[in-house]
Amino acid sequence: MSGTFTSLQDKVVVITGGTRGIGFAAVKAFLKEGAKVALFGSRQETVDKAMTKLMEENSDYPVKGYHPDLTDAQAVRDVIAEIEKEFGSVDVLINNAGVSDATPLLQYDDEHFHNVMDINVSSALNMIRAVVPSMKEHGGGNIINTSSVVSLYAQKSGVAYPTSKFAINGMTKSLARELGPMHIRVNAVAPGIIATDMVAALDQKLIAGMAAGIPMQRLGEPEDIANAFLFLASDLASYISGTVLSVDGAIII
Ligand code: NAD
Repeated sequence: MSGTFTSLQDKVVVITGGTRGIGFAAVKAFLKEGAKVALFGSRQETVDKAMTKLMEENSDYPVKGYHPDLTDAQAVRDVIAEIEKEFGSVDVLINNAGVSDATPLLQYDDEHFHNVMDINVSSALNMIRAVVPSMKEHGGGNIINTSSVVSLYAQKSGVAYPTSKFAINGMTKSLARELGPMHIRVNAVAPGIIATDMVAALDQKLIAGMAAGIPMQRLGEPEDIANAFLFLASDLASYISGTVLSVDGAIII
């Protein structure tokens, strides 16, 4: 795809969880489309590592790394203010940071459940609350949340994860209605099983079994999801808001 196709040239794009996996593929995809990218990670070391890889690829890429605590609303607001000074008002926010979970119900403690919900849900809301004022002031914007195939089918163990992703779908559809009049589109992408570190950490037998049942006969690649982000962020999707786009090879889990 070229910059003219996606209309993302010079757009300011913030991507959380941009240091690896789906997020890192998205960072690269938006940079290749000519966007200016603020890449978020959870730690300085992982941000530095991702930045080094990008600079090796193209030292002129307009990209900067940040690692605010996404669960701290004020820290998020501060870093967005910094990005706006550096690059200008945020045009596109991609809430991608997330953690999966497979804990059986009776092994949950309060802290663990809330931790998954904080990272997967509250962080996304904090990011949205931080970017919307200037999107509103600048006449519009684009927000994309990362859901999951578990938001359609749930899963057998680790109830916090599907709970958080069902919440993401609800947040997406509600905010599409609330922010539509401000020309802010809000969508989500629901990946199937994507070949990233998060999947590699799961039980391999479980993954092999699931992959064999995917009609398209393969796991998804991070780039498959990055392409969906590009589409939803572009003017090609100018009348799409409040949708949860499945990118899952037609899997049913
Ligand atoms: P990953 O584990 O490879 O990367 C996760 C990213 O989130 C990392 O960049 C990490 O820094 C960031 N992150 C995690 N905890 C954080 C925290 N506390 N604070 C800040 N950043 C944090 O995962 P991935 O597979 O690339 O997943 C990305 C998104 O896609 C997640 O929201 C995940 O739920 C969703 N997803 C993934 C799959 C899959 O099969 N990989 C399937 C469905 C949905």
